[in-house]
Amino acid sequence: MSTIKEARTSLLEVSLDRPFLAGGLYMVSSVPHVLLRLRDGDGTEGVSYLYTHSHLLIRSLRTLLEDMTALTVGEDPMDIEAIRAKLRLATNWGGPGGVVMAALATVDVALWDLKGKLLGQPLYRMLGGFRDRVPTYASGALWRNFSLKELQEAASRFVQQGFRAMKLRLGSEPSAEKEVERMRVVREAVGPDVDVMVDINQTWTPHQAVRIGRMLEEHNLYWLEDPVDHQDVRGSARVAHAITAPVTAGEYHWGMPPLRVLLENEAVDILMVDLMRVGGITDWMKAAGMAEGFRVPVASHICPEVLCHTVAAVPNGLTVEYMPWSFRILEEPPKVEKGMLVLPQHPGTGVRLDERAVKQYAVQ
Ligand SMILES: [Mg+2]
Repeated sequence: MSTIKEARTSLLEVSLDRPFLAGGLYMVSSVPHVLLRLRDGDGTEGVSYLYTHSHLLIRSLRTLLEDMTALTVGEDPMDIEAIRAKLRLATNWGGPGGVVMAALATVDVALWDLKGKLLGQPLYRMLGGFRDRVPTYASGALWRNFSLKELQEAASRFVQQGFRAMKLRLGSEPSAEKEVERMRVVREAVGPDVDVMVDINQTWTPHQAVRIGRMLEEHNLYWLEDPVDHQDVRGSARVAHAITAPVTAGEYHWGMPPLRVLLENEAVDILMVDLMRVGGITDWMKAAGMAEGFRVPVASHICPEVLCHTVAAVPNGLTVEYMPWSFRILEEPPKVEKGMLVLPQHPGTGVRLDERAVKQYAVQ
């Protein structure tokens, strides 16, 4: 029997290679993280972190995480559902979404990491062990603030790095023609055999999404992601029915019930599940099982170093979004070979912190 003895948090500000224009159409130049270490009596440590582009929220998240993890001290890290129930009860007023859910998810990831280390198993095998490598796509470039030339250079670089798929962000150009031009130059740079996903981050109307989506299909569109507002379930269903390429959505929803609504209304062809918003690894797996019931594949949203495990664990795992926002604090980023992400064989998540980098990016 193992018992949680100590929980420690720290704040980090992890810088990026270059600023990018994020989904909400604001510039991001660094990513604030809250790092959590849950330690048992023998010194085995479960590691987790959450990040947000909101500098305003990060301190509140840390405070909440500290209060929450104090309640895990004395608990057995094998009892993840029981610990979650205790934390949910203690944060009952906190609603189905927002900081409470993000903090709960962070604790959940640390618990799964700790459990894996105690059992000596990599996480994906504990969760289902469907396969030991998964398709992945490059997501950390092809931003809206890139020039056409920069898009082409970045797209070619991804191919040279071994990626067979990549994601382009659209949704901020003044005309349909200008949006499609960005897809055209990326397709030109990568050739016909590389999958190109397009993410709109909710900035189009359903009408725009159908019109421009059909134009993008001329350039072999792999999927169209979040074309419309995430609350507009009917609008998303309209787009999904009107275009041939799959519509992917789900990352903006908190908890599992809204994901069920997307599936029931045929508003998605591929369900994208975010680790923090859904409620951690535990709920990510439940969402994947629910999607399987609808014969819908699941894709992960950001945090590939953790979500490679959930995608690899389930038969309907489609692909892992390869986003490098935390790679600077890791000893090694997840390995990509021939377009496939190779699952780490270390116990737990296999996320090993580069302690020098953690010190370097620490903030008070
Ligand atoms: Mg997205």
